[in-house]
Amino acid sequence: MALERTLSIIKPDATRRNITGVINTKLEEAGLRIVAQKRIRMSRQMAETFYDVHRERPFFNNLVAFMTSGAVVVQILEGENAITRNREVMGATNPENADEGTIRKLYAESIESNSVHGSDALDTAATEIAYFFSDAEIHA
Ligand code: GDP
Repeated sequence: MALERTLSIIKPDATRRNITGVINTKLEEAGLRIVAQKRIRMSRQMAETFYDVHRERPFFNNLVAFMTSGAVVVQILEGENAITRNREVMGATNPENADEGTIRKLYAESIESNSVHGSDALDTAATEIAYFFSDAEIHA
């Protein structure tokens, strides 16, 4: 077991429906500690850079438009195996395929408007955390 940090984003479909609190409760109940958190509005350039890996995918433009359509809550989650644990509590990308009780099963509206983002590996977690937060903003 390793103490890890992962980047989480509560997406615009969730901030719009005022359900950031229930999502934070699900994360905390999964054993994850929110050690940094801020509510921001991503610019088009920020979203394009953040999702650069998906630039060639057919849904890229829609994804950027969605992620910039409202406020997001970016957060750093810390815990044992935090990356995997967060992916488990998030559920599958498409809510139709997500397990019962997961955030996406409970709250996602569609494969795009799926309420949360979570880093998928140690290296991407480090890159994504540094993209949004300075060390001075992180308090365990
Ligand atoms: P994640 O790691 O589970 O978030 O999934 P991906 O990294 O594959 O995709 C990133 C994000 O792009 C997803 O969370 C969705 O918001 C969006 N997305 C993924 N696949 C599709 C798709 O087929 N159509 C649309 N419209 N959006 C998608």
